[in-house]
Amino acid sequence: MTEGVRLVMLGRQGAGKGTQAIRLAQHFVVPHISTGDMLRAAVAAGTEFGLRAKSVMDGGGLVGDDIMIGVVDERLNESDTTKRGYILDGFPRTVPQGQSLEAITQERPLDLVVDLEVPEEVVLERITKRRVCKTCGHIYSVDAPPKNGWICDVDGGEVVQRADDTEDAVRKRLDLYAAETKPLVPFYAERNLLVEVDGLGTTDDVFARVLKAVEARRGA
Ligand code: AMP
Repeated sequence: MTEGVRLVMLGRQGAGKGTQAIRLAQHFVVPHISTGDMLRAAVAAGTEFGLRAKSVMDGGGLVGDDIMIGVVDERLNESDTTKRGYILDGFPRTVPQGQSLEAITQERPLDLVVDLEVPEEVVLERITKRRVCKTCGHIYSVDAPPKNGWICDVDGGEVVQRADDTEDAVRKRLDLYAAETKPLVPFYAERNLLVEVDGLGTTDDVFARVLKAVEARRGA
């Protein structure tokens, strides 16, 4: 079987992180851990935590570091991730989260952090066109919709626009990305874990670039 991997995906909203993370998880046979998906599942389940997170998410803000760190710490200690690794998508999003992740992964350190680079004008257009399956999270676009109406090709779920994909919320998230998440680029560069990958082009092109980066790191 393919060797597993411990990988973090960085990149501004709409850079294609989620799409690539799903493919990478299939390729390396490891779980795709998306903190956004975990939060949306809590919202859908109507838990108290979900209800509190919902108002923050709908406004385009960030859920508190302590909560997110607790959620990820727990997930990274489950046996599937400790055995083979994971593709972490949407975490860390702040330097304190990055520092905590370093402590959490002390025994099994990250292999690589991929920064998917896509210009802001491009992601704004992509996000406002983005549509997502409510149940499985599969991502579509108004330019590449499901085959039959807004019904997911994968599991038949309803395909909708995320509540936080409106233009106002997206602008707020892009500002927050620049202020809170971008500082993780030098943080990981200093630790010699960062690789920048051009996120423009087809999903196949970008996937091939990311794989090449992982393989280059392994061969190094
Ligand atoms: P995403 O699907 O990664 O865009 O996440 C959707 C929303 O969930 C974000 O806009 C935040 O409100 C929240 N969220 C996801 N991951 C994190 C995180 N690591 N730290 C704080 N908030 C998060």
